[in-house]
Amino acid sequence: MAQTVRIEIPATGRVVEIPTGLFINNEFVSSVDSQERIEVINPATEETICSVVAGSKEDIDVAVAAARAAYSTTWGKNVTGFERSRLLNKLADLMERDMQVLAEVESLNNGKPVKIARDFDIGDSIQCLRYYAGWADKIVGQTIEVDNRTKMAFTRHEPIGVCGQIIPWNYPINMWAWKVAPALACGCTIVMKPSELTPLTALMLSKLIAEAGFPPGVVNTVPSLGPIGGAALSHHMDVDKVAFTGSTLTGRKIMEAAAKSNLKKACHIREVSLELGGKSPHIIFESANLDQAANWACLGILYNTGQDCTAGSRLYVQDTIYDKFLALLVDKAKQLVIGDGFDEKSGGGPVVSKAQYDKIWSYIESGKSHGARLVLGGEKRRGKGFFVDPTIFTDVTPDMRIVRDEIFGPVLSVGRFKTEEEAISLANDTSYGLGAGLHSTDANQCMRVSSALEAGTVWINQYNILGNNIPFGGKKQSGIGRELGSYALKEYTEVKAVHWNFGEQAD
Ligand code: NAD
Repeated sequence: MAQTVRIEIPATGRVVEIPTGLFINNEFVSSVDSQERIEVINPATEETICSVVAGSKEDIDVAVAAARAAYSTTWGKNVTGFERSRLLNKLADLMERDMQVLAEVESLNNGKPVKIARDFDIGDSIQCLRYYAGWADKIVGQTIEVDNRTKMAFTRHEPIGVCGQIIPWNYPINMWAWKVAPALACGCTIVMKPSELTPLTALMLSKLIAEAGFPPGVVNTVPSLGPIGGAALSHHMDVDKVAFTGSTLTGRKIMEAAAKSNLKKACHIREVSLELGGKSPHIIFESANLDQAANWACLGILYNTGQDCTAGSRLYVQDTIYDKFLALLVDKAKQLVIGDGFDEKSGGGPVVSKAQYDKIWSYIESGKSHGARLVLGGEKRRGKGFFVDPTIFTDVTPDMRIVRDEIFGPVLSVGRFKTEEEAISLANDTSYGLGAGLHSTDANQCMRVSSALEAGTVWINQYNILGNNIPFGGKKQSGIGRELGSYALKEYTEVKAVHWNFGEQAD
């Protein structure tokens, strides 16, 4: 079967050629032993876009062998940082050239508005590639003095080796860039497993990998189901590291697989880096600029239709301003148009799949049946598409499922507090620790509360702002390790200490 498909994007009439095979050694190929395909669905219409090859365990073996061969010959320690930098910059240029078509396919497959995919997800991914291109030739060790005129020691920051990278569906291009860019900058080779729900743009980007001139085998892409390709990668004896973004449940399985196989450097826990789920608190203190805070609270829960690991899904409002703030919030949330990603008016798209849609509705029903008060949304739409409108619950209690569990949809729980201590205690009452936000114009309070919040990222008087030069990751059950910034380089390099005796003595 041909390993590409031509599809017409209905809204724009653009005809796009999309690779549908496994990308191994810079070529799109069939599975070595399986006829299975993955149906790729448009969540706005529920129609099938196309199908792609579903990689098997044996395909993962072939991809890992390709990545190992490239690591030992054309990449790894055999390529200069200058060359890695040049190729990453070239890839960024190609991504920039193809921005519009990538955005349209991202929207078709994931549902998010085209303009958001283009201007935010892809714009940020291009910057991420360029940011790590800048680092590629600046990865250096230390020279360490030894107490002897005939001895010295130095460290080398060497690439870890072959990396398995497993990514989710909520930001398919962004998560691809966050994983691929630092790994390549450090000299690692990659077997990428995109989400089975959104494999199309990862395959298009693979084509750009070959066009940019990366040697065969440096980046390999195997679309596959999680329990097959993802599990094979995390159990693989010749994969040196697994980097994963997804749910905490799957993260646990990956840690277990790493421990049961070749340890994947499990004694140095960072080598299994996990970016997991969240149930992030967002606190509004009485001194806050309420209008501005309401804008951020809406963005915090509604951006990407709530399918965001840092979604500010638990809002806590000080009781002195509670009614005023709630009115502002509901008013602003009503203004967000959830619609087809190709409609210019849409600020948010459908959720990604039927399973996600059903999960979100089961939480909305549980909120209603457990006595939370619905102040916005909560009504299903008729017709096709996995659309969920902004939904806000008040009168919630800490034990409710809508307050405890990650919903991954546009569903906000609003609680109230009297004191700063109470706000901190409510905010930290979760097994997660990814993001947290607070709004206050009292500088001392900002400092006290940001220090007390148990989260990998704290936003003050804003929310959900990330930067390629700023580390990102979670505390508690929200993950291990950090992506982005110079911190991500530690995740893809291993320090080797070299002790050198250049004298004649025996001591
Ligand atoms: P998921 O865990 O179901 O899937 C993520 C990836 O893991 C997919 O590629 C999937 O195929 C793969 N996978 C599934 N089972 C596997 C297994 N047994 N072994 C190996 N791989 C397996 O998560 P999802 O539903 O795709 O994504 C949503 C979750 O991702 C949410 O919980 C969200 O919070 C989290 N997320 C976290 C971040 C972050 O940076 N912390 C970013 C985005 C999403």
